[in-house]
Amino acid sequence: MRVAIIGAGLAGLTCAQHLGSEGLRPVLFDKGKGPSGRMATRTVKTALGDVRFDIGAQYFTAQTPRFANQVAQWAEDGVVASWPEAGPYAWVGSPSMSCPLGAMAATQDVNWNSFVGGISRKNDGWILHLDRAEEGPFDVVVIALPAEQATPLLALNESMFMLQSASSVSTPCWCGMFAFAEPLNSRRSIFRETGIVSWACRNTAKPGRYGLEAWVVQADSIWSQANLEVEQANIAEILLSNLLAMTATPRAAPLVSQAHRWRFSKSQGLGLGELWNSTIGLGVCGDWLLAPRVEGAWLSGFGLAQRILQEPVLNKRRSLRVTADHNFSA
Ligand SMILES: Cc1cc2nc3c(=O)[nH]c(=O)nc-3n(C[C@H](O)[C@H](O)[C@H](O)COP(=O)(O)OP(=O)(O)OC[C@H]3O[C@@H](n4cnc5c(N)ncnc54)[C@H](O)[C@@H]3O)c2cc1C
Repeated sequence: MRVAIIGAGLAGLTCAQHLGSEGLRPVLFDKGKGPSGRMATRTVKTALGDVRFDIGAQYFTAQTPRFANQVAQWAEDGVVASWPEAGPYAWVGSPSMSCPLGAMAATQDVNWNSFVGGISRKNDGWILHLDRAEEGPFDVVVIALPAEQATPLLALNESMFMLQSASSVSTPCWCGMFAFAEPLNSRRSIFRETGIVSWACRNTAKPGRYGLEAWVVQADSIWSQANLEVEQANIAEILLSNLLAMTATPRAAPLVSQAHRWRFSKSQGLGLGELWNSTIGLGVCGDWLLAPRVEGAWLSGFGLAQRILQEPVLNKRRSLRVTADHNFSA
């Protein structure tokens, strides 16, 4: 079975990983330069060296046994670490948030810098329409994108799924990145719900990080929405002044002062799990189908892989393979 997965964030990579464990070799396509999605880590060069900022998910928890097993495996592989300062059950990618994705992507066939603008179904399977090329045919296509980015791909192909994605609205988030030559005037490394700031943290206080004093400041969704089209430099200035006020730092000249706009940050979380149409071989996964968190994305990708693997055609092939292996060893 030829499988294409559009989106190599956590949901897409999880789906690929579980399909791979049953012998399938999905091909992934992602518009990004490398593994990150909304678990992104941004590296900024300064005169005093590179500084890294986790600009998407800040930490995650594992509330289900399945995801807890995955996190335990990541911990054994050294790509996540617990971060008690954020809470007794908090985990982060280590030494940066995108590390678990990097480890997963390393075992998969991922095409980076590959924006998929459309999909169409021909007699011999699905065709993916990229900027300057077409890929396919594929028997199965998985769409592992935020709801708003999934909608245009679903529109001409699965109207019921498209209605679901169109009904899921994500909130935006402006995220500030600041680095300083000297530590700020605060022993605390985490601030929650302070004025327009929903979260601010000393990135270098997370496990496995070192180097220059680096802070991430995320504005709340209402303020972010109201200021969505404001210039990035102005947003950075406002978030910096909030950070300096919060940490009671009278004055500090930042080495890095930047802002990143997430148009689709926090999804609604429809509680459905995943979507699968076995007649046309089209699946959808992502945090928005379950819960707006790292764990929601993982469970959705895992759930979709399970649904695909339950397809009768695959089970028939699997039983033929077992018989063949048995005959061989006999
Ligand atoms: C600011 C912020 C803070 C957050 N904080 C937390 C937190 O503290 N704890 C927590 O658990 N969760 C948090 N989250 C949510 C968490 O990051 C997400 O739930 C999770 O990473 C979603 O994974 P995903 O695979 O569903 O989607 P994504 O990570 O968005 O992956 C989708 C992928 O699709 C690619 N893509 C998009 N369109 C196309 C296209 N047309 N063609 C090809 N590729 C495409 C993108 O490049 C991306 O790699 C936060 C998110 C943000 C943005």
